[in-house]
Amino acid sequence: MSAVIGEVSGRVIELLKIAEQLKALSPVLSGKKRQLLAERLEAELNDIQISIRKAELSALEFEKAQIQLNDEIKRLKQWHEEKAGYEEYITPAGGATYRRKHHGSERGSGHHLCATCFENDKKSVLQPIPGEGVVQFKCHQCGTPVMMETLRGFVEFQVPEWER
Ligand SMILES: [Zn+2]
Repeated sequence: MSAVIGEVSGRVIELLKIAEQLKALSPVLSGKKRQLLAERLEAELNDIQISIRKAELSALEFEKAQIQLNDEIKRLKQWHEEKAGYEEYITPAGGATYRRKHHGSERGSGHHLCATCFENDKKSVLQPIPGEGVVQFKCHQCGTPVMMETLRGFVEFQVPEWER
């Protein structure tokens, strides 16, 4: 936008020069020279009008971008507050997720967040997907699969402790 403003002020200087020339013309002198200066004046004014329109468009785009940035800052601030309530968790199968610090004592309680998205400041809850011999979750935002437990682990999870 500053480039457009620079362009406009350059053209205004040009206009002032033309106006000076017009003033300097003898009042008795008429015709071709006057006509030429009037045409130059008109052309400069047209260019200024185009430049001003460009500046208006840039200003609108700038405002839009600023609103988007403010929304993004707000979202990130909220997320960073929420993020502090989570901690890294390594699943029995060695996969990394994030889950709430106070997730309760029960195993498997609470949701798990995708570690990749978490590092990229996005909250994405992992969802279970069918898997052979494993309990597998997947992030539907970035597509990262996370192995939660192997089948043995899964069986252990289902079987009461005294029967293991
Ligand atoms: Zn993800």
